[in-house]
Order: sequence, then structure tokens, then C-alpha cells
Amino acid sequence: MNQIPLVDLKAAHREVADEVRAGFDRVLADTAFVGGEEVRRFEREYADFGRIEHCVGVANGTDALELALRASGVGPGDEVVIPANTFIATAGAVARTGARPVLADCLPDSYLLDPQAALDAVGPATRAVVPVHLYGQMADTAALAGQLPDRVRIVEDAAQCQGASRDGRTPGSGGIAATSFYPGKNLGAYGDAGAVLTDDEDAAGLIRAIANHGGVAKYRHDVPGFNSRLDGLQAVVLRAKLARLADGNAARRAAATRYDTLLADLAATGRIALPTTDAGNVHVWHLYVVRIADADRDDLVGKLNAEGIGAGVHYPAPVHLTPAYGHLGHTRGDFPHAEQTADRILSLPLYPQITPEQQQRVVDTLTHALRG
Ligand SMILES: *Cc1c(COP(=O)(O)O)cnc(C)c1O
Repeated sequence: MNQIPLVDLKAAHREVADEVRAGFDRVLADTAFVGGEEVRRFEREYADFGRIEHCVGVANGTDALELALRASGVGPGDEVVIPANTFIATAGAVARTGARPVLADCLPDSYLLDPQAALDAVGPATRAVVPVHLYGQMADTAALAGQLPDRVRIVEDAAQCQGASRDGRTPGSGGIAATSFYPGKNLGAYGDAGAVLTDDEDAAGLIRAIANHGGVAKYRHDVPGFNSRLDGLQAVVLRAKLARLADGNAARRAAATRYDTLLADLAATGRIALPTTDAGNVHVWHLYVVRIADADRDDLVGKLNAEGIGAGVHYPAPVHLTPAYGHLGHTRGDFPHAEQTADRILSLPLYPQITPEQQQRVVDTLTHALRG
């Protein structure tokens, strides 16, 4: 049976294979394995692409978020507000700074952080709020910006939105954002990688130091640090893929529109709800997420997978209902939108190379599975 994966990394590799091999040869010739010319070039190219002053390449997205939080003054004893529905790494990065994650509910249709819920969660110990730009569109940071006390910083989790903007603003501009280049992200490396994005030169310098054993020069240690650096080989891959990212995002957008059309009849019956895009957002469709009204979602995923369709769930449990964050003391019912979302969402295969025929088969299989 022909498989339709959730993400087709093989198809993505075919497009850059020659360029990547030539780049690997350059790095091997220079033995520039950590940092080096390819990393510097990638950082400059990504900063230009993201319309931001500084891009600091690091080892992965979770480190990037931890470093962005630390550079924003977050540490032990502080609280950081995050959405209850996010990939668990958002909470993990907060916990690693020594701060306590404080959860806020999401909006029911876009699944983005509810700005009012986030503001309501701000208390005397709050040091930062982390809007997560989930599934490829940006959360409403403007609704938070003017309303937060001065000591509270906005630190964006931009792992899923490379190339997105909201009202013309890109992640990190005027503030700070973290992104991930995990292989399945819109811009994916061939291993782990991530970056911090900011217009703040001091924050960028501090992050470079912390992530390099506390100093930018060898054997100079200005602050206690650790090791989270971008590899030369990953920078080669990221440069080759970055050159194609705008086209890839446009292809994702076209595929999302095609799903909207193909699924319109099913949506009209009320059995599924299609994803929504907030006004002003340039969405880059990291994931195409539908909501199932009354069918058993897990049963549906099983049926699609059995037919060779790589449907997934992002994510099956909100943060407060995972064992890892049980100590936050919440129960089911505390964040109703995040909980309903986790129980009812379903991600359909989406990647730049997906064909109209593949999408038709996904929709036919989903329609059939909902009937039977
Ligand atoms: C992928 C992801 C991360 C973590 O990135 P890693 O590179 O896997 O550490 C953080 N937040 C969100 C929302 C993500 O999707």
C-alpha cells in the first residue's frame, strides 16, 4: 500500500541532496564542526529571512527557549505563563530555568493562547509570558504587549512558525523568540538544532556566552554557562533548505487551501471543523489540524493509519494532564478549551511536496472512516 506520511522528509531531502553533499565536503575540508563559516552565514541568512537583527544558532529548540527566558531575566522563584496546549518542551524549558510554569487556556477555534486568560494568570511572581505560535500561525502578542506590567517579558515560542508573520510583525522583532530546527519543522536540520531570534544586541551577546560555556572567546568565562551550539554540518543543511523555505511555505499554503475545498462538504455536515486563520496572519501551515465533532478520534486515527495515512495528534494531552506536570496541582476541567482540543484534534498529512491526488485520498479515507 502506498503510504502518505504526515511529513515527507525523503521528498524534502531529494530537493537539496546535491547541495548538502557539496556543503558537507566544505565543512569536512575545513573541519569546522562546531560554529565556523557555515554557521555564521546561516545565522545572517536566517536573520534576514526573519527580518530580525540577531539569530543565535543553538543545539535545539528547547535550549533556545531556555536561553531566551534566561536572557529575559527568568530564574528560580519566578513564574512563567504558558498555554496549557503546547508541545511539552515549552513547559520543560521554563522548568529548566528554575521557574514555575503557570498555565493559561487557549482560544477554542484557533487553539492559540487566549490573551485574556494569559493576563488573568499573571501574578506578583510572573516574569514572562510565552505565546506559542502553534501549527504555523502567530498568537496575538499585541494583545499582551500593552497590558503586561513592565517586569513581565514576552518570550515567543516560534518553533512551528518559520516564515510566519502577524500584522507584518515577525517572531522576535522588538523582543525575543526561540525556534527549533528539529527535522520535522518547516525548516528542519538533519538532527537537532535551534535558534534564538532577537533585535536586542545585549540579549544576543549574553545568549552566545551562556551557550558557549559562559564566554565568546576560548577560556574566557564571564557568566556560568553550558554548551548549546550549532554544528557546521547542520548549518549546511539549514542554508540549503532556507533557500527553499518561502516556496515550501507557499506550497503548504496551497495544500491547506486545497484541503479546505476538499473538506468543505464534510465540514458543512458539522462532523469536522476546519482550521481557522486569525486576521493579519501569514500562516505557514506547520500542521493542518481538524477538530472531530462526535466520532471517536483515536479510533479515527487508527483507521487512517491502517489505510497508510500518517494522521497524528498534536498533542494528545495538555500540559496539566501529563504525569510530568501533575505537581502543578490541576485537574481535568481547569483548562476546558485545551482539554477539548486535545481530545478532538487530528493532524492530516501536509508537506510542500504533497500532491492533489494524495490529498484526495486522505479526504476520501477520512470521509469513509467517519461514515463507518
Ligand atoms: C519542536 C518544539 C519545541 C522544541 O524544539 P526541540 O528542537 O525539539 O527541542 C518547542 N516548542 C514547540 C511548540 C515545538 O513544536
